[in-house]
Amino acid sequence: MAASATMEITALANRLRAGGEDVIGYGAGEPDFPTPQHIVEAAQRAAADPRHHRYSPAGGLAELRQAVADKTLRDSGYEVDADQVVITNGAKHAVYAACQALLDPGDEVLLPSPYWVTYPEAVKLADGVPVFLPTTVAGGFEISVAELERARTPRTKMFIFVSPSNPTGAVYSPASVRAIGEWAAEHGIWVLTDEIYEHLVYGHAAFSSIPVEAPASRDRVLVVNGVAKTYAMTGWRVGWLIARHDVAAAAIRLQSHMTSNVSNVAQQAALAAVTGPMEPIWEMRRRFDARRGTMFSLLNAIVGVDCPEPMGAFYAFPSVAGLLDRDLGGVRAATSMELASIVLERVKVAFVPGEAFGAPGYARFSFALADDDLAEGLDRLTAFFG
Ligand code: PMP
Repeated sequence: MAASATMEITALANRLRAGGEDVIGYGAGEPDFPTPQHIVEAAQRAAADPRHHRYSPAGGLAELRQAVADKTLRDSGYEVDADQVVITNGAKHAVYAACQALLDPGDEVLLPSPYWVTYPEAVKLADGVPVFLPTTVAGGFEISVAELERARTPRTKMFIFVSPSNPTGAVYSPASVRAIGEWAAEHGIWVLTDEIYEHLVYGHAAFSSIPVEAPASRDRVLVVNGVAKTYAMTGWRVGWLIARHDVAAAAIRLQSHMTSNVSNVAQQAALAAVTGPMEPIWEMRRRFDARRGTMFSLLNAIVGVDCPEPMGAFYAFPSVAGLLDRDLGGVRAATSMELASIVLERVKVAFVPGEAFGAPGYARFSFALADDDLAEGLDRLTAFFG
């Protein structure tokens, strides 16, 4: 298994912090807000209830599975029944379970790059073969049906799709989502669609769901989602997989031997989240949106940085190619990885180099950090790059 390419930078940032340095970190892949109070209170009540002190069904609490089915109809317009929902230890575990349930050795999985770091590893852990399909700033980091079709072989089993995207912030239009879903249905290809950032869309962008836009794909669609990003609940570890009945049943059998049930207290918190008021979520989205605007304009003001406007999630993903092989106060960076080390050492700003996502020459900046820190870090970068 590949070690995370972000480890080096993270280790260096931690060393600097431990030495008392004031490091601004754009690395976080999680909201900086606390979990909304009504969710925390539901967990407190659940912890006090002896009903939750025991094992529960491996596939999840019945009321949560039903609530996720209801929420999916409400938010995406996709009608499923509770037996198709498997509650997992975070969305990450849903990706893993889907790959284990479906992939046979040698099966090819189409994966647009830049990609979220876990996808290729989850594929490889199931003896699948990730097939990387590069996308570019010029193309809005979107993969087209023509590119997918060129990569298709008799071994192509699955395609992994994420919109809004980590790391690029791209959001596909409903028409593109439909075209991709129809292509997959036509060729009998499974689509794992990661909808974890569904509510974090900005401006004119709108979330759309493959099984809704392309109903013919439904039989082979695996929806991955969870409470982590929408409800500021990354540490609670609740996600889910939605699949047709036989695949959901296979994932539950796997989970029954691997992890048993997800923590009942966390499941009750997730139940409060998906059935509760959305206003706290819209408030967090407003805050992210304001930070997005600051980050987008200040990054682009740096000569050598080319940042497409992030339309979803909470990441900006600029090309930093124009900063490479340039004199940076007596040093030069040949790669985005080296650039990240230099910037961290010189101005104490941490970002994730594109190498981590299979995209050398790029950088990921999260805007899930406090407003003042966000502004301070951008000031330092602007001053450093002149
Ligand atoms: N999918 C994507 C695209 C993500 O960015 C993340 C979190 N980094 C996850 C899934 C995992 O979410 P969870 O915390 O629920 O495992």
